[in-house]
Amino acid sequence: MDFSLSEEQLMIRQTTREFAEKELAADARERDAEERFPKEQVKKMGELGFMGIMVDPKYSGGGMDTVSYCIMIEELSRVDASAGVIASVNNSLVCAGIEKFGTETQKQAFLAPLAAGKKLGSFCLSEPSTGSDASALQTTATRDGDDWIINGTKNWITNGTQADTYLVFATEDKSQGSHGVHCFMVERGTPGFSIGKKEKKLGIRSSDTCSLIFEQCRVPNANMLGEPNKGFRVAMFILDGGRIGIAAQALGIAVASLEAAVKYAKEREQFGRPIASFQAIQFMLAEMDMEVNAARLLIYRAAAQKDRGERFSNAAAMAKLHASKTAMFCADKAVQIHGGVGYTKDYPVERYLRDAKITEIYEGTSEIQKLVVARDLIKS
Ligand SMILES: Cc1cc2nc3c(=O)[nH]c(=O)nc-3n(C[C@H](O)[C@H](O)[C@H](O)COP(=O)(O)OP(=O)(O)OC[C@H]3O[C@@H](n4cnc5c(N)ncnc54)[C@H](O)[C@@H]3O)c2cc1C
Repeated sequence: MDFSLSEEQLMIRQTTREFAEKELAADARERDAEERFPKEQVKKMGELGFMGIMVDPKYSGGGMDTVSYCIMIEELSRVDASAGVIASVNNSLVCAGIEKFGTETQKQAFLAPLAAGKKLGSFCLSEPSTGSDASALQTTATRDGDDWIINGTKNWITNGTQADTYLVFATEDKSQGSHGVHCFMVERGTPGFSIGKKEKKLGIRSSDTCSLIFEQCRVPNANMLGEPNKGFRVAMFILDGGRIGIAAQALGIAVASLEAAVKYAKEREQFGRPIASFQAIQFMLAEMDMEVNAARLLIYRAAAQKDRGERFSNAAAMAKLHASKTAMFCADKAVQIHGGVGYTKDYPVERYLRDAKITEIYEGTSEIQKLVVARDLIKS
């Protein structure tokens, strides 16, 4: 088994790291404090090909594999986890869905500008009363001639206030549960579609999250993504890939925590010597490093399975479950190793701890990932 990265994968690591350190690092703390979306930086990410890295070049994408994508998300998130999720949503929740299920016309119209970073996408499944149980969604789609009329509210939508193209899941017949769901591409500015409340969050504060309101919103049938009534399958396929991206985001946070902890442990002296010389500190660092490496291997395994066209739901769930736990573990230990200063905004580790928590919640909570893994164990 070969664990080495290809030339292209090493190049994407270097390019993303240079970009993140040059363009994201300086203001990450201020953007977090001010809950400010990194508009200029996201534009540059588009120009560098970060917003559609896996998309076929004929639709303005980078044509790279999922391992490369994970490396890019890890490197962005190592510096700014908000930038990581902004890119992850556009790449794996929006572009990947349109590329897989869209018609040629839809790909030219919707996918190409998203992959080129000229437009930004959002994925709109969650609602006020349905999160983990997404198949019980309440937003309705009613046929009217060549159009559909959408009514309802979506919650927690990443990129929501900034996006141009929204993948919206709505049901024609609630009694059919997951079998009555359609997926639509709705463009910003469509009459009847408005942006609701922007959330004030614990972490990833410069990634915007908001509710969306649909009131008699008319969308042409040509904007339906995938087959009628197969929208829930579209959502589940997309989320499998998305979970690999969130696992990579979690890994980036864990790596940043480990690096900050090592640096501080070598600098800080107590009892006349660096705290890194205490075995208690070394044990924490060793465990952090081990978990980081285990998470990375699980992520690459899931990404490689996806790239080989194999079933990867289980591997993606396991990667997200472990990587998000690792992000929480490493960020917590990094704060501990920093002592009192770790609890202040003078050091970035408090931000890492706040940012880490979301990776255990969105794109399927840790409990839902365990259900996915367990389902495979007990099905036969
Ligand atoms: C910052 C942020 C960004 C988000 N971005 C998006 C986005 O872009 N698009 C989108 O569609 N959604 C988004 N979400 C929504 C996110 O995916 C949901 O919050 C998540 O799926 C959990 O749903 P919920 O919040 O309704 O919690 P609930 O489903 O109500 O869960 C509450 C608790 O119950 C547990 N639980 C639920 N069911 C079970 C079960 N069967 N077995 C065991 N435990 C269970 C959960 O694990 C959790 O601990 C975002 C959320 C946040 C906070």
